[in-house]
Amino acid sequence: MKPLGICDNCGEFEGSCKCGKGRILLDGKKRELVSKFLSGLLRHFPHSFGIDVDEEGWAKLDEVAEVVKDRHGVGMREIELIVRFDPKGRFEIKDGKIRAKYGHSINIRVDWSESTKIPPVLYHGTHPANVQSILKRGLLPMKRREVHLSETIQDAIEVGRRHHPNPAVLAIDTKRMIEAGFKIRKKGKVYTTDYVPPKYIKRIL
Ligand SMILES: [Zn+2]
Repeated sequence: MKPLGICDNCGEFEGSCKCGKGRILLDGKKRELVSKFLSGLLRHFPHSFGIDVDEEGWAKLDEVAEVVKDRHGVGMREIELIVRFDPKGRFEIKDGKIRAKYGHSINIRVDWSESTKIPPVLYHGTHPANVQSILKRGLLPMKRREVHLSETIQDAIEVGRRHHPNPAVLAIDTKRMIEAGFKIRKKGKVYTTDYVPPKYIKRIL
């Protein structure tokens, strides 16, 4: 993809600006990466990142920007550029909200209530390089978010693939965790908890 930038004289631009003094905010590679993530986040896995999407697909722009900042180190300005110049017109920003215009695999408000029906084993996909420290320190939430657990190994692999092509998969003994008084919540397709101590974690992949 072409780079995106801003210029005091020419305004927002794609490629290079007319006067040549513009500043690139996203090179082509980064633009592609963030676009892809944004599209996946709004269409398929908002709940995995704690983003609430309404019936029409709208999410709060500042919340989305925070997630994008966490993962890709770019902010609101870059997101606005991506949306404005998206060649397929995939996104829309309005009144402090953002949505994907089409292509959703999610389209309903997900039940965020706590559920008592938690499977006895849940899974967590991660970068293989993280495994050693997880087995030592437990599973800690990234920043102030919760730890996310998947219902199936396949789901965990898919989550892990966002970090590594061949992710490691950990099995979490949720039955024993619950018996020990830990709280696990069901949020749509994912399960969350605040912390998983090492003794409940086993690497299976
Ligand atoms: Zn310029």
